[in-house]
Amino acid sequence: MSPPDRCDIAVVGAGIVGLAAARELAERHPRRTVTVLDKEPEIGRHQTGRNSGVIHAGIYYAPGSLKAQLCVSGARDLYAFCERHGIEAERCGKLIVALDESELPGLDELERRGRANGVQGLRRVGRDELLEIEPAAAGIAALHSPDTGIVDFTAVAHALRGELEAAGGQVILGTEVTGISPNGRAVRIAHAGGVIEAGHALVCAGAWSDRLAVMAGAPAEPRIVPFRGAYLRLRPERRHLVRSLIYPVPDPRLPFLGVHLTRHASGDILVGPTALLAGGRDAYRLRQIRRRDLAATLSWPGTPRMMRRFWRTGVQEIAHAVSRRALARTAARYVPELTARDLVPGWAGVRAQALGCDGRLVDDFVFSVTDRALHVRNAPSPAATSSLAIGRHVADKAEEAFGLGR
Ligand SMILES: Cc1cc2nc3c(=O)[nH]c(=O)nc-3n(C[C@H](O)[C@H](O)[C@H](O)COP(=O)(O)OP(=O)(O)OC[C@H]3O[C@@H](n4cnc5c(N)ncnc54)[C@H](O)[C@@H]3O)c2cc1C
Repeated sequence: MSPPDRCDIAVVGAGIVGLAAARELAERHPRRTVTVLDKEPEIGRHQTGRNSGVIHAGIYYAPGSLKAQLCVSGARDLYAFCERHGIEAERCGKLIVALDESELPGLDELERRGRANGVQGLRRVGRDELLEIEPAAAGIAALHSPDTGIVDFTAVAHALRGELEAAGGQVILGTEVTGISPNGRAVRIAHAGGVIEAGHALVCAGAWSDRLAVMAGAPAEPRIVPFRGAYLRLRPERRHLVRSLIYPVPDPRLPFLGVHLTRHASGDILVGPTALLAGGRDAYRLRQIRRRDLAATLSWPGTPRMMRRFWRTGVQEIAHAVSRRALARTAARYVPELTARDLVPGWAGVRAQALGCDGRLVDDFVFSVTDRALHVRNAPSPAATSSLAIGRHVADKAEEAFGLGR
């Protein structure tokens, strides 16, 4: 299908966030034409198809933050959506494990946040109960979240596309957007095959969102820096070591959750992900470099500031990235029977993480507006879980910013 010459709302990015927002707008505004463009030939090539596949319950996030609000309501809606579409979404439950006394204050804080965020069923368990839930796990205590689950987010994205098309919208793949410029009463979306005159644009471009925002007239801050997250997998005969999801108490200064052991919708048990600055926004291989992306990361004033602050974590993450033994050692702190021989190569994703000029990794979801365009500028984890709620939030913001009456 070739792109139209004009439409009412153009959405850039057919990841789970772009599709959820497009579907929401198409359903709310049946008389407006909604066209989604993606540079890739299929859905799920980037973050949507390369993640842990966990439906987060909303425990970690600062009470009142967008992440807290949109994760809790998004998870609830996602389970219902999956049921409607016959997509398996299993509430397999999760343990966040304190290995020793020094981690108990961190666990207390997570429990406080989880309760403040309205996470259902959250419970503190001691060593005995921990072993009943995960017989091979270490740890002196844990938080158990029975509502945390797993799903194939690419399947969710395909179902969202189906609903969008049923509401009259269209998805055009293999079409890279190369320019966004407001033009009086419309916004010109330049793409590989020509130009679309759109009434308004919604930009949900993941790792490339900052570039498109700047093209549309937004400030350069925050910049997206890509963090590669690689997984190993347990050999099939060792999968019994993990029943569902085992997570560490994370470093509260970082937006990443630390190396975890997760049952995946594919049946695999994943061990990871690592968290290392990547040489490109789609650098799925460790040594892959895209000069333009690397230059954008290194020239950003926030990058050296972040590196100075987190150099210790960086050194450990380099070890995780290059050495199976190092990653196995970290995972074995949670499942002591696990050794490097139990692990086989998995795959990698790249997180689109916004970084401020001051070296701060932007924690919350960020949305901003330019003339006739709305930009999703930071939608890292748990944005897949939150996608349906983000879709609603973005549609509300677009209606307000663009004066789209219903
Ligand atoms: C390793 C890892 C683990 C994660 N684990 C979880 C988890 O367990 N649970 C959870 O909820 N979240 C998790 N996440 C986060 C989650 O995957 C993302 O937050 C979510 O997928 C973001 O969706 P998106 O649509 O914004 O981005 P993407 O899926 O990256 O989609 C962006 C789309 O924009 C397109 N695009 C970009 N530029 C252009 C252009 N110029 N023209 C046209 N198209 C363009 C891209 O091709 C892409 O399809 C994880 C992420 C990673 C990387």
